Amino acid sequence: MGISELEPQDAPPELVGCPICRRADKAQPVSAAVGKGWRLPTVAPAAKYEWAPLLALLGAGGLVHTAPELLHETDTPTVFQFVVCGWLMLLTARKTVAVFKRRKRIRLGESDAGAVWNEGWLCARCEVIYFQPGYEPRGVGLHQPLQYEEFQLEVYRAGGYEDLADKGED
Ligand SMILES: [Zn+2]
Repeated sequence: MGISELEPQDAPPELVGCPICRRADKAQPVSAAVGKGWRLPTVAPAAKYEWAPLLALLGAGGLVHTAPELLHETDTPTVFQFVVCGWLMLLTARKTVAVFKRRKRIRLGESDAGAVWNEGWLCARCEVIYFQPGYEPRGVGLHQPLQYEEFQLEVYRAGGYEDLADKGED
């Protein structure tokens, strides 16, 4: 197809500038900005309580190890070891379940969240994130500038794990 056959609508769409300063000279995709060292919202929340499964495993391993010994010797160190391991396992069991649930939810939603994240544009001048027209996630208005936390929430919401955002969760 020659140039002459191109219709106007075939031209690459023009980049829509920042909703605040109305310019695109400082605009760049969120992914590119992160690559340049900008600290911006991520696709998924950081790992949390990752120590729990390891401690639970240690506790379980200790129980398995000391239980047979208890049949033969009921000296204080063995009993103490058994109790400590059992206590460790009980203490970390709930957190371990939470860690696995959290990992699974993030794994399931991460690609949907990433799709929204990938469409975010940062205006480095105004430090807001916005979407190109037609790429806004549901609930975000046309040319609506978002603060980082708002963008974060939209990304997590797309992934179905908005309740895992920052504070107070488990
Ligand atoms: Zn701007």
